Amino acid sequence: MKAHSGEVGVFVRIRPTANFSQDIIECLPDGQTVNIHHKKDTRKPLCPRKIQRSSWSFRLEGVLQDVSQEEVYTRVCRRVVLGALDGYNGTVLCFGQTGAGKTYTMTGSTESYKQRGIIPRAIQEVFQEVQKRTEHAFSVYLSYLEIYNETLVDLLASLQGSAHPSPRSMVISEEPGRGVFIRGLSLHPVHSEEEALNLLFEGEMNRVIGSHALNRNSSRSHCIFTLHLESRSRTLSDAKYVTSKLNLVDLAGSERLGKTGSEGQMFKEAMYINKSLSFLEQAILALADRRRDHVPFRQTKLTHALKDSLGGNCNTVLVANIYGEASQTEETLSTLRFASRMKCIRTNPAVNEHMDPAVQIKKLKKDVNRPSVPYDPLSEAQLAEIDSQVQRYLEGSLKEISIISVSQVRALFAKFKLAVQGQEQKVNARLRQTYNLGEEDQRADTPAVKEWDTRGSTEEDEAGSFEVSHKNTQRPSSTRAKTKKSKDKQSQSKRQGEESPVSKKRSDSASKPKLNSVQSPEREQELQEPDTESQEPQESQPNGKEPFHPDSTLTKAEAFDDFKMGRGSKLNRILQENKAVLLERHSLHRQLTDEVNAVKRQIDCTAATMQQYRETRGGQGRYSEPDDTLLNQLRELKALYRQRYEVLHDIKAEINYCQHLVDQCRVRLLSEFEKWYKKYSLVPEEDLETSMDNTLDQVSLPECDDNQLPPESSSSESFHNARYRMLRRRNTRSLCVTPEQRSSSSGSGQRTLPQIPPVS
Ligand code: ADP
Ligand code: MG
Repeated sequence: MKAHSGEVGVFVRIRPTANFSQDIIECLPDGQTVNIHHKKDTRKPLCPRKIQRSSWSFRLEGVLQDVSQEEVYTRVCRRVVLGALDGYNGTVLCFGQTGAGKTYTMTGSTESYKQRGIIPRAIQEVFQEVQKRTEHAFSVYLSYLEIYNETLVDLLASLQGSAHPSPRSMVISEEPGRGVFIRGLSLHPVHSEEEALNLLFEGEMNRVIGSHALNRNSSRSHCIFTLHLESRSRTLSDAKYVTSKLNLVDLAGSERLGKTGSEGQMFKEAMYINKSLSFLEQAILALADRRRDHVPFRQTKLTHALKDSLGGNCNTVLVANIYGEASQTEETLSTLRFASRMKCIRTNPAVNEHMDPAVQIKKLKKDVNRPSVPYDPLSEAQLAEIDSQVQRYLEGSLKEISIISVSQVRALFAKFKLAVQGQEQKVNARLRQTYNLGEEDQRADTPAVKEWDTRGSTEEDEAGSFEVSHKNTQRPSSTRAKTKKSKDKQSQSKRQGEESPVSKKRSDSASKPKLNSVQSPEREQELQEPDTESQEPQESQPNGKEPFHPDSTLTKAEAFDDFKMGRGSKLNRILQENKAVLLERHSLHRQLTDEVNAVKRQIDCTAATMQQYRETRGGQGRYSEPDDTLLNQLRELKALYRQRYEVLHDIKAEINYCQHLVDQCRVRLLSEFEKWYKKYSLVPEEDLETSMDNTLDQVSLPECDDNQLPPESSSSESFHNARYRMLRRRNTRSLCVTPEQRSSSSGSGQRTLPQIPPVS
């Protein structure tokens, strides 16, 4: 499939604003054209009447105004993602001034599933396709690179134990067959959407923390999130495989140096940004000009890193983000000019196909050495020979049977099966004879079950004889030793968390008197003959004639308690931890609600005082405004109210996520328990189902006053999980950022960590 061929796809996305300048920005109904009508005031002090009026028209692939994140993804990125899965490199770039919505478009809001951007959606689509395309085996790797002031920063270095990424260790390299790559940039294998989202959020968090710690603005760096895909056919044992890179690029703010009026560090940043963006533009112009055979990619890190991802054999899409306010028209124009230049680049996407030399060599070797595999039916004589071989092998006179063909192996298996069945019948007949059992005593169980039953009886017998001898306080030492050993084993298995409800019941029954299971001494002796100690798995099984029923000694609830301490301990621990976090968030929520209400009461009180003030003064015939102190107080209270309310809102969102996780954990724990319980008990299914409700009751959480789940579909689960993990990590790591760093970087327009404002 050719995902996109011809030219670079260019879209304009307009950030919604209450002050949209309709008279300047005109979006035509064709959905592709945007006209700018600009009155440019070039008046200089000496020639006062010079006002330039101009209009520009830009025709692009699409103008995205008031469209959802989903639509943006579908129109802009979907085909690039599908192309990448077919082996075409793909790049989606967001370009525009700071605040125009590049990061919103690319990453979106990590707080809301619905407002997630292109990257999380691309990840979701990739893994959905990987699941669907069963005929191919995919490998997916991730990297997240930031280019800040011409320095390469690995945003995922923290996952490799390196707290501080060392920029010097990374270099942009190029190798035939591999294209451009960053030597030293960590590549992370991912196997699911959730794993990939964890990495994205980790990178986002490092971006934010980097901004705080280094006091820099994240919009002044370029970020390249790359999915590296490799796919191999499962059906053809081919040496061929395809690879592709999907680059999702959030470029630094494109505002001009003059406009920022920056100094010092900011000046340096703006210079680097200007330089890299103007080199990007130069590279784009060169790519668009077919007569030019040299494209200056190496001038900056950005163009060098994107060398094979801008034009050529790559599907490239640009989103030009603009801010539709009149004051930003100059920037809007310059962004749209860049976009229309980008449109001129011709692309010719091609699949990145490779040959795996190792597989090729292996295949050739196999072709040379492969023996013919005869599938022809065997003759009577051959079958007779196989029969005799099996006989001799079972008797021990033949040490080995040489494998000649597949047909011979099949025939051997068939003979062995017959031999086993014959033996079973013989054993059954002997047992029936020994115990004078008629046909009606036979159970329809498999021979394995019969053997198991017999051993089960041995244990029961021991329990019975123990009970009798215990009463007489004359328990035979050998039996005592065996019981002790058996108990030791049970306690050992319990320590390992592997004890089943059956074995628990067995250990209980071994120590409980059971008069009805006392056997005749002869039989007891006979049945004790086999080395029961070496039959550990059977030892803990119940007597087949008396099917195990947990209700008799161990209720399902008790079994569930057991499960939580043993096999399900890990899940249970996670559930408990999540519950603890949830409870903590709830108490924080309550505390904040109280505070917000207290502030609200103060506001009402102050407003009432002011009203009173006005009325009393009015009564004296003079209308007078309350003094500044009251007004200021009210203003401050309102600001405080808003601030607390926002934090409350954040905590509420966290509670929703936590609740979702707790529910998930609870369901998982129960389903694991049910599986385990069914496996180890012989209780009919319907009994289990009817008792399920009771079990559910027993593990249900204390009711939370606000436990609504997020309204999205179950496909949001990975997103919520990854985000929740990020929140936890962020809470831990935010401790590393000093309050000075935090306050010095606050107010710069970047996303801040949700903090609880100090209570004054
Ligand atoms: P940039 O990365 O270009 O500097 P951002 O993506 O950070 O800009 O956007 C700035 C602010 O505008 C953010 O608060 C973002 O949520 C908001 N924003 C941008 N585009 C949109 C949009 N299309 N819809 C809603 N909010 C948006
Ligand atoms: Mg940004």
